[in-house]
Amino acid sequence: MINEDELLAEIPKQLFIDGQWTDGREAGMIRIEDPATRQTLAEISNASVSDGLDALASAHAAMPAWEKTAPRERAELLRKTFDLISERSEKFARIISLEMGKPLQEARAEVTYGNEFFRWFSEEAVRVSGRFGLNPEGTGRITTTKRPIGPVYAITPWNFPLAMATRKIAPALAAGCTVVLKPAELTPLTSLYLAKTMEDAGLPAGVLNLIVTTKSKEVSGPIIDDPRLRKITFTGSTAVGKTLLAQAAQNVLKSSMELGGNAPFIVFEDADIDAAVSGAMIAKLRNMGQACTAANRFLVHDSIAAEFTDKLAAKMRMLKPGRGVEKSTSLGPVISSDAQQRMIEHVSGTLGRGAELASGGSIPLSAGYFFDATILENVPYDANILKQEIFGPIAPVVKFSDEDHAIQLANDTEYGLVSYAYTRNLDRAMRLVDSLETGMTGINTGLISNAAAPFGGFKHSGLGREGGPEGIEEFLEARYVLFPTT
Ligand code: ADP
Repeated sequence: MINEDELLAEIPKQLFIDGQWTDGREAGMIRIEDPATRQTLAEISNASVSDGLDALASAHAAMPAWEKTAPRERAELLRKTFDLISERSEKFARIISLEMGKPLQEARAEVTYGNEFFRWFSEEAVRVSGRFGLNPEGTGRITTTKRPIGPVYAITPWNFPLAMATRKIAPALAAGCTVVLKPAELTPLTSLYLAKTMEDAGLPAGVLNLIVTTKSKEVSGPIIDDPRLRKITFTGSTAVGKTLLAQAAQNVLKSSMELGGNAPFIVFEDADIDAAVSGAMIAKLRNMGQACTAANRFLVHDSIAAEFTDKLAAKMRMLKPGRGVEKSTSLGPVISSDAQQRMIEHVSGTLGRGAELASGGSIPLSAGYFFDATILENVPYDANILKQEIFGPIAPVVKFSDEDHAIQLANDTEYGLVSYAYTRNLDRAMRLVDSLETGMTGINTGLISNAAAPFGGFKHSGLGREGGPEGIEEFLEARYVLFPTT
């Protein structure tokens, strides 16, 4: 049995720069809160602008040696990290659950998923290759190789405190890049424990540096402007992503952006409705709906909408809210008071547009930032809730009449991350794959993330891919050499 206080005491509370744990140049602490109780979990160092630049200097200084290490050596560090995280998996799961609020079972799933990036990229590190071939004119041999692009600035959000970091660190290190990681100030404890675990695995000084700050914009600006930085990788809101892209343009940084989503979850009249309801529970309520992949709009055929909604409501009513680390909990809190407030506004605003409440709609527990798993039905097509990323446990249900109508509704958004569709008709499924404007589609499933697959979106949902063989390319650039034929 893991004691909570002992576990919290094990987590470093400082910045990690050049292989040293440090308080930073300016005094100042960040209070980390348990969203289920609002109680303080820990106080950690708050990085200043100069700490950010120290971290970049350290990543830059470590780059020449790190990029020259043998790919096998990098692979083995990543594999060792994978093994250590596996050994400590229950500790990681509890830290995630404490600071972020998700039920322990989901936190355990995040550890498995997040850690898989270390294993996957330990295998990819030794498979980076180029090509060699005759040019069309026959006058020369085109040779290409790839090199690591350079120091990376990685900014991660609070919703998957481990997986969002490992998706960036593992491919960057595999490619031969060094990293400055800035996790979200709401849930940094998991990243701090990850840095300690990597240190224990034998991480060389400066290869991963970690800063946490309440002044994200002020601290990030000078890092992004600095010519020593060559790459930015970000997961978070579309609004912040656009700002970062504009800043990155000044320094011509290679940029990966995993931004917001507005996922349609389409249930056709030929679907297995019980399977669709189970998939909907996952796609909507994993992380209490606080995921860019969360189902944001339920598009359900007229003829089955009532049955689908009733069955989904029955399952949602069985959820037990509580602290994530308690065994009985199946619904955690949302992350903050602001998030809770947004849920209240979404419900009242959508009811005001003529929708009806099929389930939930209020605050079940008063201590933390809880909100009921909620269904709104008969939502009008132009309701605001269908245009915004809800990022919480509310399911708006919209009816459609036929396949073309469903596709038109699904694509009617500036986002394009993921879509889900339930149908037993194979021809229809194939048509959907071609016509849904999303980087990822789940057919008859509500969960698609996998370290071996390219995660990423079309349109305003982002640039670049994380995971799969594609994931390491984001940290590499091609070099071409011509050898004339004689
Ligand atoms: P979310 O809505 O998930 O909190 P944000 O885009 O606000 O998404 O935050 C994601 C990450 O981006 C966090 O680490 C946050 O601290 C950071 N962040 C927010 N604003 C800025 C900014 N202007 N510059 C750099 N990082 C930022």
